[in-house]
Amino acid sequence: MTMETRTVPGTAQASTDTPTIAAVGVIGAGQMGSGIAHVCALAGLEVTLLDVNPQALERALGAIARNMDRQVAKGAISAADKEAALARISTGTDYAIFSGADLVIEAATEKEEIKTAIFRALCPHLKPDCLIATNTSSISITRLAASTDRPGKFIGMHFMNPVPVMKLVEVIRGIATEEPTFQAIQALAAKLGKTTAVAEDFPAFIVNRILVPMINEAAYALYEGVGDIRSIDTAMRLGANHPMGPLELADFIGLDTCLAIMQVLHEGLADSKYRPCPLLVKYVEAGWLGRKTGRGFYDYSGETPRPTR
Ligand code: NAD
Repeated sequence: MTMETRTVPGTAQASTDTPTIAAVGVIGAGQMGSGIAHVCALAGLEVTLLDVNPQALERALGAIARNMDRQVAKGAISAADKEAALARISTGTDYAIFSGADLVIEAATEKEEIKTAIFRALCPHLKPDCLIATNTSSISITRLAASTDRPGKFIGMHFMNPVPVMKLVEVIRGIATEEPTFQAIQALAAKLGKTTAVAEDFPAFIVNRILVPMINEAAYALYEGVGDIRSIDTAMRLGANHPMGPLELADFIGLDTCLAIMQVLHEGLADSKYRPCPLLVKYVEAGWLGRKTGRGFYDYSGETPRPTR
């Protein structure tokens, strides 16, 4: 990591202390972690990707290569860009792979106890000035930061799914986040070609505070029989001009993630309007988590998705 400096009139060389990020670690090789590794490697960063599950790492490398192939076919990148980016990604299951990282982005399962256990295991392996970002969709940045040895160097960097396609990154400071950390993450987002929106550290931040209660309401509309799956999705696609219906979108996000976000909103804001829909809870209990498990509000086993109710 290098430090950029600039001269401030009337002072000696004052350091802006904005760290430059060249090597990025990513924790969690699911849909988000693999997307984050993809965009970082294409932007010329060295990437190390970790998961508890070695098969998830295999799957992630396959998915990244396939998604880059698609970009090559569209002419967005060259075949040489793809090969160079893939060569910049290494994987492992041991936190020692992060010893050279300037920034580690955590994108593991949306459960606070999983994330805090990860941070406790991670910190002893990091350089003292390594930054940590979390891709959490909803959990308090301040609380997650407190489980690390460096709350000043900790921040929320919330990518959208699918990461290579979606332009937005929400940036969320915890109470202790230092300005150079914030500036470094803003600079990284720009380097990745993303636009940032700054959100305060309230449950679920901006996008999911608005989006996930809408999805939960769609699940209630289904639960109460206001409409069936197709009607609800068609109504919102054609009636509200949304590119995807809310139930389709829930399957895309992952029903476990949607439920976890509603639980954080419900507990964090103590308002009954955020009560998770019992039907959403049931789907998650059944292991019907959406596209990633082949079944959610739709069944993905055939050629085209079929509504399950
Ligand atoms: P996912 O289920 O696709 O992937 C999670 C990965 O984390 C899995 O590969 C799992 O093996 C791994 N994991 C679990 N415990 C771990 C541990 N202790 N150490 C290392 N790896 C571990 O989930 P996802 O959709 O990629 O979501 C990941 C994070 O990104 C969550 O915090 C989620 O809220 C957030 N997020 C999700 C979306 C979305 O649309 N899915 C969008 C933005 C942010």
